[in-house]
Amino acid sequence: MMDLLIPDKLHDESRQGEALLLEPISDKNNGRKLYIESYGCAMNFSDSEIVASILLEKGFETTSDYTVADVIFINTCSIRENAETRVRNRLKEFTIAKVKNPGLVVGVLGCMAERLKSKFLEEEKLVDVVVGPDAYRDLPNLIEQVDSGQRAVNVLLSREETYADISPVRLNSNGINAFVSIMRGCDNMCSFCVVPFTRGRERSRDPQSIVKECTDLFNQGYKEVTLLGQNVDSYKWRKPHPALSKGEGSKKSEVEVLSFGEDLGEANEPVVNFANLLEMVAQVSPELRVRFSTSHPKDITDEVLYTIKKHDNICNYIHLPIQSGNSRVLELMNRTYDRDWYIDRIDAIRRIIPGCAISTDVITGFCSETEDEHKDTLSMMDYVHYDFAYMFMYSERPGTLAAKRYADDIPDAVKRQRLKEIVAKQQEHSFLRLQAQVGTTQKVLIEGFSKKSNNDYCGRSDQNAMVVFPVGENYKPGQYVNVFIERSTTATLIGRVV
Ligand code: SF4
Repeated sequence: MMDLLIPDKLHDESRQGEALLLEPISDKNNGRKLYIESYGCAMNFSDSEIVASILLEKGFETTSDYTVADVIFINTCSIRENAETRVRNRLKEFTIAKVKNPGLVVGVLGCMAERLKSKFLEEEKLVDVVVGPDAYRDLPNLIEQVDSGQRAVNVLLSREETYADISPVRLNSNGINAFVSIMRGCDNMCSFCVVPFTRGRERSRDPQSIVKECTDLFNQGYKEVTLLGQNVDSYKWRKPHPALSKGEGSKKSEVEVLSFGEDLGEANEPVVNFANLLEMVAQVSPELRVRFSTSHPKDITDEVLYTIKKHDNICNYIHLPIQSGNSRVLELMNRTYDRDWYIDRIDAIRRIIPGCAISTDVITGFCSETEDEHKDTLSMMDYVHYDFAYMFMYSERPGTLAAKRYADDIPDAVKRQRLKEIVAKQQEHSFLRLQAQVGTTQKVLIEGFSKKSNNDYCGRSDQNAMVVFPVGENYKPGQYVNVFIERSTTATLIGRVV
């Protein structure tokens, strides 16, 4: 994987393998310690919080030291081969802990568990339990099964599970930004992607539970929420809200949901789409910043763009993966849009939200990609001038449509060369985009000390750029400040509070 200049936390390299630590629930303590570490995207980190919340309720307490744990869970990612290799290597490190404590339960969760299912138990003798992303409620039973001497697997995918009623506990976060899962799974079948196989069909979470979670977070002092989904633009909630049948005494917020619904379908059920949901979350408080990811070029609507424009607290930043700038390659990737469509969406963003930051994902060296087609990706980058990008060489994943249909026929050296060109171009654009902000004043949410010095704070601008500025007595993490930008490096804006 090659990331570049990513002031983005969705796939945060520094968090890979991070252990989750939470306050125990004292009256429920069963004396057993849970160690859980996570890999991959923000969805996985968010899921680990759900897993920990389920087990805390059963009396577990978390530990950040796996050598003292009674249960070790590793929440895995399958998106690239090196992510899986990393997990397998990590499992080897748990062997000694298991020798010392034969009662130790070792479990594999998440996408890799779903992809390999019971094969995992055959391949990794250390592993006792394999659990897919839709089966976390079953974890207490599965642990009991292992305690009774069996190995356990639950990789059933669900059409309904959204864990809507489970409030994830986030005590090891900075208390300022939180991820909120709004949907699960994906119904797109991009030919390179394992997600539809590992995380199942798309389902949206009840908007009331999302608004409640965001409101609770705000009341606890959080200042920014990022709404998460594989394809947030296809968020759709159809079920009629119980407030429909309630008379007097219905809570105001429940009634407000209905006012966003269009009457669609035979049963006149209100439908809450992503634009409606964004608006509902934006209304929690003007002091709560709202971000979201990931958008899909085929689904992002002008209605969403106008909603962003309407609310100051919805950040002007959109992650819109292009993957390839060539229409034939996009068709092979089954992205269901072409170059012209993508350009139309970019034009709409620029027209409706001028100054909006745009980031992207690029896969280079996809099956049969020619040199000219690669150049189309470069020219698309020139057209958009992305603020930042995740850039990858194509890596074939077993079980995907591309693995079944197309030969992975671009030599590694060619893939590397193309990636190099893409990275060089992005570096140039990222620098230009940051340079353009020198001399402006940016509203920044302070997240903490900068990585390099305790004399400086860092935080993000509305457009998601990292901003560094001197610590001052009159402001602290969790507050908004206006920062005049004096200069930029290739990845950071530097300034002073005004
Ligand atoms: S939209 Fe495509 S790339 Fe994204 S998760 Fe779904 S299938 Fe994978």
